[in-house]
Amino acid sequence: MYQRMPFSNDELDFTYPLPANSKERPACYIYIHNGKVVTYPANPSDSPIILHENVEYGQDKKIIQYVGELDEKLCYAVGLESHEELPEGLQLVLLRDLIGQVDERMLALAGRAVQLVEFELTSKFCGRCGSVMQNLEDRGKKCSKCGFFVYPRISPAIIVLVMKEDEVLLARSSHFRPDMYSILAGFVEPGETLEHAVKREVMEEVGLKIKNIRYFASQPWPFPNSLMIGFIADYSDGEICVDGKEIIDAGWFKRDKLPLFPTKTSISGHLIDWFINMAEN
Ligand SMILES: [Zn+2]
Repeated sequence: MYQRMPFSNDELDFTYPLPANSKERPACYIYIHNGKVVTYPANPSDSPIILHENVEYGQDKKIIQYVGELDEKLCYAVGLESHEELPEGLQLVLLRDLIGQVDERMLALAGRAVQLVEFELTSKFCGRCGSVMQNLEDRGKKCSKCGFFVYPRISPAIIVLVMKEDEVLLARSSHFRPDMYSILAGFVEPGETLEHAVKREVMEEVGLKIKNIRYFASQPWPFPNSLMIGFIADYSDGEICVDGKEIIDAGWFKRDKLPLFPTKTSISGHLIDWFINMAEN
C-alpha cells in the first residue's frame, strides 16, 4: 500500500502558526484519546475514517491543537480526556494498527496529532518550578514564573546499514521475535553528531569500526516520539563481538541468503530493500 515510509509527511502542509483567516476556513478534526485515534467503523473493504467534519463531542476540552493543512482544510487534533463520551459506533484504534489501514497522508496526520496532544498533556506545568506554562508564538511553551522553555519532544535515533563488499551486517536483538534480524539502531546522545552516534552504536553493539557514512533518509516514528535517521556505511575494521544481552547474534549476510527481516513499514526494511536492489542498479 505504501510507496514511501509510513508517517513520512512531505505532502502535508505543517506550516505554523495558523493562517490569519483561520476562523473562516473549512476545518476537520482528528480525535485522540490516550495515544489512540478515534475512527468511524468502515466496511471491511474500506479504510477506517479518522477525519471528522465537525467538533461533535469534546467541545469543552481545552486540548485542541492545530495539526496542519490538508486539501484546503485546516486540521485540528482534539484530545479527549475520557473515552466514555464517545458516541456509540466510534472506535479507538492504536496508531500502530492504522499502519497499512489508512492512506499515507492520514497516517502522517494521525502520527503528528497523537504527538501534539501528548505534548499538550505533558507540558501544562513547568518541569523546573511547577508553574503554569504559557504558549509561545511557535510550538513552544514558556514558564510564566522562571522562563523555562519546552518544545514538543522529538527523540532522534540513528539506524545504519553496514556493508562489507557484497554482504550486509544484520543483528538479532533480544526483544525481536524469533528468527528476526535487522540493522543496527540507537538513540543519539546529548552532544553527539549523527555520524558520531552511528560510529558509537556500531562499536557498542557489534565491536566494529566503520567508514564512509552517508545519509539515506529519515522517518518520523511516533512510538512515542522518535525520528529515525537512516545511514549507510562501509565496514572498516574489527571482528564481530556481541554483548549477548541486548544483541544476541550478528553476522554478515549475502543478498540471496538473508534471514527474516523487517517489512518496509519501517526505515530498516527500506534500507535492507535498498541493499537487495543495489546489485541490479
Ligand atoms: Zn518554571
